[in-house]
Amino acid sequence: MKAIRIHEHGGPEVLQYADILDPTPQAHEAVVKIDAAGINFIDIYFRTGLYPTKLPFTNGQEGAGTVVAVGADAGDVKVGDRVAYTGVQGSYAEYAAVPADRLVPVPEGLDTKTAAAVMLQGMTVHYLTHSTFKLRPGHTILTHAAAGGVGLFLVQVAKMLGARVIGTCSTEEKAARARAAGADAVILYTEQDFAAETKRLTGGRGVDAVYDSVGKTTWEGSLNSLKPRGTMVSFGNAGGPVAPFSPLELTKRGSLFLTRPSLFHYIASREDLVRRAGDVLDWVQSGKVKVHIGEEFALAQAAEAQTKLAARQTSGKLLLTP
Ligand code: NDP
Repeated sequence: MKAIRIHEHGGPEVLQYADILDPTPQAHEAVVKIDAAGINFIDIYFRTGLYPTKLPFTNGQEGAGTVVAVGADAGDVKVGDRVAYTGVQGSYAEYAAVPADRLVPVPEGLDTKTAAAVMLQGMTVHYLTHSTFKLRPGHTILTHAAAGGVGLFLVQVAKMLGARVIGTCSTEEKAARARAAGADAVILYTEQDFAAETKRLTGGRGVDAVYDSVGKTTWEGSLNSLKPRGTMVSFGNAGGPVAPFSPLELTKRGSLFLTRPSLFHYIASREDLVRRAGDVLDWVQSGKVKVHIGEEFALAQAAEAQTKLAARQTSGKLLLTP
């Protein structure tokens, strides 16, 4: 089968479109014929080596398709099931062997492409807004990269939960998308001091929580945008990892709370995975949340897709279709 293999860490040029053996399932696994694989920023972190993994490997953490083979101990999963998953390396491929207990069924009437588009980013938004900092009416939040894959989903879910949403992004075109998704205000953080503008928009008070996926370049401004005892949710490094800092920085700004969460700790149990995936798939199937597919690429175009994602030239979800 065809797959995107990485033999050494580096730039997009290390993504090799290669022929490898078709996977066969271990006892606890099912082999999924991939209809669509989600492209996520985390794929770039594994490619560059920012997040460690064993070489060589097949890139990609998210996919959906049809089960074509099962191991002896794969539980209820059967050949022919339509399934989706995230958190298992190797979805940039025609087939992937996945632990059966990481698969969730794709509801009847929902296409596998849409399911592939929401497993990672949708469940991230679920845990950020329902568990890490539980949003309710009356809250005001600041969320960066509001026209990105996570961003457009987060804006919609935060509005659904009754929060006031201030978003940031780099261009007017992206700002229009974030507004269309429901953002109450959008700041071009490439042109304006977003912390000063956030303070102005909140009458000097500051926001209840910041969802910061950019990291290094927004870190200080994000802390400065919070109200005393506000919550800083630092959940990504699109602009580089945050530099070491003193906890006294939190005290100075009013006893702030800080967390640095990862989706994989919030879907570690089967129960959490099924609950979060069930909610997310229901939101998109019922139309409560719209999925914005920014662009689709053929499997062989993985390097081009990641180049665009890293260069801030994309909006919404990116998919690879083998
Ligand atoms: P996005 O579609 O949001 O793409 C990244 C966006 O970040 C860009 O479009 C850009 O938006 C913004 N950005 C700001 N500075 C930079 C920079 N220097 N280089 C590149 N991009 C920059 O990607 P995803 O939706 O896939 O992921 C968003 C973030 O969320 C990532 O940091 C990812 O790691 C994180 N994440 C974390 C998870 C967790 O559980 N911790 C799970 C899922 C995602 P603009 O042009 O508007 O500035």
